[in-house]
Amino acid sequence: MSQNHFNPTCFGIEDKNINIVAAETETDHNQVTEVIYGYLMGKPFAKCPYCHHAHVIRNGFRQSDIHLTSSGDHQRLLRLKKQRWLCHSCQRTFGPQTNLTKGHDSLAQALKSQIMNLVRLGMPAAQIALITHCSPSTVIRTIDERVQSQRRVARLPHNLCFDEFRSVKHAMSFICCDADTHQLVAKLSNRLSRSIIDYFENRYSLSERQAVRTVVVDMNAQYSQFIHRLFPKAEIIIDRFHITQLAGRALDAARIQTLKGLSDHRSRTYRIMKSQWRLFHKDFTDINADKPVYLRGVNEYMTQQNAIDLVIDQFPDFDNVYQTYQRLMRAIKTKNVHEMSQLLNEYHPQHNQMDVVIQTLKHYHHYVLNSLIYPYSNGPIEGLNRKIKDLKRHCYGFRNMTNFFKRIDCLL
Ligand SMILES: [Zn+2]
Repeated sequence: MSQNHFNPTCFGIEDKNINIVAAETETDHNQVTEVIYGYLMGKPFAKCPYCHHAHVIRNGFRQSDIHLTSSGDHQRLLRLKKQRWLCHSCQRTFGPQTNLTKGHDSLAQALKSQIMNLVRLGMPAAQIALITHCSPSTVIRTIDERVQSQRRVARLPHNLCFDEFRSVKHAMSFICCDADTHQLVAKLSNRLSRSIIDYFENRYSLSERQAVRTVVVDMNAQYSQFIHRLFPKAEIIIDRFHITQLAGRALDAARIQTLKGLSDHRSRTYRIMKSQWRLFHKDFTDINADKPVYLRGVNEYMTQQNAIDLVIDQFPDFDNVYQTYQRLMRAIKTKNVHEMSQLLNEYHPQHNQMDVVIQTLKHYHHYVLNSLIYPYSNGPIEGLNRKIKDLKRHCYGFRNMTNFFKRIDCLL
């Protein structure tokens, strides 16, 4: 198939200086390629761009293949003949430039944009290569070229979240984001205190760091040791979810220990504790005390309150853990600082699983109370971590840290 008059925009070619003269399809190993033939003449050169001598002449054509954005299931190639010019004074050659590509690139800028759009969706490089009809290494090269890792953010946010995520080869990496806007502030390949301190000290002045008001952390001891050094005026907040999680685990451990002590696996209390474990995690104000419901696993109709009462009346040790758990959850839910403070101060060790929890919370007493005073939590960073996890899963993991971090930048 060969035709004489073509509109370049039909092939996604925006450069008006390119004349399309023919188009045909080629098949090679089941790969269909649409080849478009064109000329780039440009304006005549009056003088040499290198030595500014006026003695220049036309010097034939140079042909190059440019990969255009693919259309449907086939690759599109522009076989472009560019006019060359020769300078008689310095013997150098030169020619017109096209805005289709950058410098001597063989990939059209539009194709690179198409690749980047797919990268932002979190697709694996091999899949993007298949869609855009180029190689996976071309995709990675395009990401390298288009994504520049940020040295620092323009303004250090007033409220930060600190967390970590599993990156390359099971290593834990540090991540920090803005608690208000949820924007990524920093990510480091490791979570060593030294690296984090160096990162912030080298990039942000003391006055900038002094403007930070709060930092949300999980119960990772190492962060709280240097946060005051980095951000002298910041308050540390322990993430509420981590407190709930810690107490929830203690409650489950106590429940399982009680279960293990029971020999009759068909008793009512055993079945309630075994299958209706969610009831014990529920806030006691949400427990239904009026309407009997069918409890699966127990195979009986009874109210939720009745089920809980049956268990805690029979096992006073479990009751102690349960009551502490409920008080803790109540204080967190209602953000009652006084209640939490009282609970931590007046708690007497009962030789059960809750002792360790309360001891840990006592250790971070001030930070735990901050979690009830301030509205911030690690929710935003957990959202980012989820996206990172999804990216890793979709791309079957990463081997190269730089590549992985660039993909994260594209995603967030
Ligand atoms: Zn010259």
